[in-house]
Amino acid sequence: MKKYKNHNQLTVTQISNWARDLGFSDLSTVDIESPDQLTDPINRYKDWIERGFHGEMKYLKDSIPIRSDPKKLLTGAKTAIMVSMNYLPNSYEFNWRNKEIQGLSDPDKATVSLYARGKDYHQVMRKRLVKLAKKISSYIVSDGFRACVDSAPILEVELALKSGLGWRGKNTLLLKKNEGSFFFLGSLLTDLPLKTTKPLQKNLCGSCTSCLDKCPTNAFVGPYILNAKKCISYLTIEHKGVIEEPLRHLIGNRVYGCDDCQLVCPWNKYASVSKIKEFDVKNGLDNVSLIKLFEWSESQFLQNHMGSPILRIGYERWLRNIAIGLGNSANQKKKILSFNDAEICKIKKTLTRRLNENRPLLKPHLIWAIEQCR
Ligand code: SF4
Ligand code: SF4
Repeated sequence: MKKYKNHNQLTVTQISNWARDLGFSDLSTVDIESPDQLTDPINRYKDWIERGFHGEMKYLKDSIPIRSDPKKLLTGAKTAIMVSMNYLPNSYEFNWRNKEIQGLSDPDKATVSLYARGKDYHQVMRKRLVKLAKKISSYIVSDGFRACVDSAPILEVELALKSGLGWRGKNTLLLKKNEGSFFFLGSLLTDLPLKTTKPLQKNLCGSCTSCLDKCPTNAFVGPYILNAKKCISYLTIEHKGVIEEPLRHLIGNRVYGCDDCQLVCPWNKYASVSKIKEFDVKNGLDNVSLIKLFEWSESQFLQNHMGSPILRIGYERWLRNIAIGLGNSANQKKKILSFNDAEICKIKKTLTRRLNENRPLLKPHLIWAIEQCR
């Protein structure tokens, strides 16, 4: 039996209030004592891995035993406290989705996924989850907590579904009625036997298939099943090698990640802006030209992306992605009746300047992009 410092049983409502004070938008709880409850999700996950849809992300396969039982991450864990945190930059106005969609067809602009325009969410959320654990510990005696934010091997969406935080959209992401899907998910494992919240009764996607229909690379094998190897987020962030030619045309001006299957989701008209100032846009990444980003030196890349999730792909993969964007930009400009030859010459010159650099990954993409300028 736990000892309660304040002699009152701690309620989930109390923990939710503390979480809101820390910038989380929602909180729910799920019992993780019995691994059996994850049997069906883990079987679906194994099937997904066996079909090779995880691509080069070997860690997703290696972590199956831990994912099957979250108690392997924290001995004696009884409850997972699931939290969401909105990440749309605070300055975004009601018509932000239209602006994003327009930006995708602007041949001069680079598009960076919304979640990556500010500070790395891993650090931001983990710090706040640790604060939440401390707050709970100040009230009740506990032997341990473990904060998990994306990088820990845990079936976060499945646990969030069981806790009633939202429902899984056909685009595989967790959706919430009042917030859409532009939020990060995190979990705080604890040995406290907290009261659990109830799963939702209904999946609210209904007959909608917008996310499946609008994916630029047709990466969904069907509802709820993503072939990551075709997904632009995977290709521009996780994939370390050469991006296959047929996929390059489909990437458009997306240089880091892709939000299309969220932008078209009708529930995202309810997406809320974040209260977290760390998610404010850095380096003008919501309105920046491909050429400007391509001209950054390596030291500018390292300095400008300090504390950003973009840093992890490294300079050469960053250039690879922008080179593809520039090739697509040249092709798009050729289709515009009023296009000016000088603009394509400028793209070609910008690309050509890097041809003599010793960058084996960049080279084939550079050559391809220069060819698009003809
Ligand atoms: S992130 Fe983009 S490429 Fe990936 S599934 Fe969604 S729409 Fe398709
Ligand atoms: S776009 Fe439609 S089908 Fe896809 S997640 Fe949103 S509501 Fe569900």
